[in-house]
Amino acid sequence: MGRLQLHNLTKVFSSGDNRIVAVDDLDVTVEDGEFLVLVGPSGCGKSTTLRCIAGLERVSTGQITLDGRDITDKKPKERDMAMVFQNYALYPHMTVRENIGYGLKITSDLSSDEIGSRVEDTARLLEIEDLLDKEPSDLSGGQQQRVALGRAIIREPEVFLMDEPLSNLDAKLRTTMRTEIQQLQQDMDITTIYVTHDQTEAMTMGDRIAVLDGGELQQIDEPLDCYHRPNNRFVAGFIGSPSMNFLSVRRDGDQLTHDAFEYTLSETTLDDLRDTDVNLTLGIRPEHIELAGGDHRNAIPTTIEVVEPMGEVTYGYFEIGETTYTVSVEGERRLEAGQDVHVVFPERKIHLFDGDTGDAVKNSELDEPAETVRV
Ligand code: ATP
Repeated sequence: MGRLQLHNLTKVFSSGDNRIVAVDDLDVTVEDGEFLVLVGPSGCGKSTTLRCIAGLERVSTGQITLDGRDITDKKPKERDMAMVFQNYALYPHMTVRENIGYGLKITSDLSSDEIGSRVEDTARLLEIEDLLDKEPSDLSGGQQQRVALGRAIIREPEVFLMDEPLSNLDAKLRTTMRTEIQQLQQDMDITTIYVTHDQTEAMTMGDRIAVLDGGELQQIDEPLDCYHRPNNRFVAGFIGSPSMNFLSVRRDGDQLTHDAFEYTLSETTLDDLRDTDVNLTLGIRPEHIELAGGDHRNAIPTTIEVVEPMGEVTYGYFEIGETTYTVSVEGERRLEAGQDVHVVFPERKIHLFDGDTGDAVKNSELDEPAETVRV
C-alpha cells in the first residue's frame, strides 16, 4: 500500500536576511496506486516538494505520512521510495546490469543469483535485455533513461518519485516514453508522483494534476477538470496550449465593457455573478472562439494577421486593441492572413475571473458528457 499524505508541508530556505518560501502549506493526499503530476512554472516549488517527500530536504513545518505512518524525519533509505531524475544519474563505469542491480545489492539481503534474475526480469519489462552488458556511455539518452527507470523499478518501492525524467529526450522519444511510463505505472500499480513544467505531460499522464505557483497549491483535480473548470486565472492560463485568451473588462449591469467592444450577458450568466463582480477578466479558449457574420450578437470585428496551419488544426492570430489573441479552427477550414472576420466568444464557453484576485467567477459550460467510445 502507498497512500501518501502531505499535511501543511512548508519548506523555507534562509540565508542571512534572505528567506524563500519554496513550498507553502501544501496539503495533498495521493491515493494508493495513483499517478499524481506536480506541475507549474520554473521556481514554483515542484522539485523541493519532491525532495522533501524523498527525504533529501528537511521540511520546515508540516508532516509527511505514508499509509498513516509519520515519515517526516525518516532517512531517505527508510522511506521505501525510488526516485528517477532528469539527468539519469547512472554510474558511468558500471554495466547496465550492474547499474540496475546495485541498489538491491547494497540495501537487501538477496543473493547475487536472486538479484541477477530480478535484473533480467526488469530488463525484459523495459525491453533492454540486449543492453545489459553495455556501459552508459554506449547508450542513447532514451536507453539511459530506461536504465534509470530500471534501477527504480527493481526495488519494487511503495512510491515512485520522478523529477522531469523526460526533459533530456527529443520530442518524439518523449512522447513514446510518456506512454511507456504510464503503461508501466498502470501495470505495477505503484503510487507515483511525477514532476514536470510541461502542461502536456501533466494533461496526458496524470490521474490527477496538482498545479503549483509560488509554492502554493492552486488546484488539484483530474486533468480535464483543471482544463474546463480552472479555480483561477493562473490555472486557466497554465493548462492548455495555446493558452486561454484573457481580456480585461468592466461590468455595468448586463454589459461587459472593453476598450474595443461591449458584450451583453444573458440572465443565466448574471445569476452566477455577485453585485461586486465589476472588475473582471474574460477568458476564452482558442478553440471556443467562433468566426461569424457581423450580425451575430456580441460579434467583434478584427483581421486575421498571421495564420499557422498545424494540419489537424489551424491557428489564427488577431488583435483586439493592442493585444494579440489566438483562434483555433479545424485544419480543413481555410483561414488567410489579411482576412477580415468577426470573432464571437460564445457565452456558454466564456470564463470570468475576478480582476483583482484572479479567482474563477464563472467557468465555461460543458456540453453533454460525451459517451465513452466503445469498440
Ligand atoms: P524548476 O522547474 O526550475 O526546477 P521548481 O518548481 O522545481 O523549478 P524548486 O527547485 O523547488 O522549483 O525551487 C523553488 C524555490 O526555492 C525557488 O525560488 C528556488 O530558487 C528556491 N530554492 C530551491 N532550492 C534552494 C536551495 N537549496 N537554497 C535556496 N533556495 C532554494
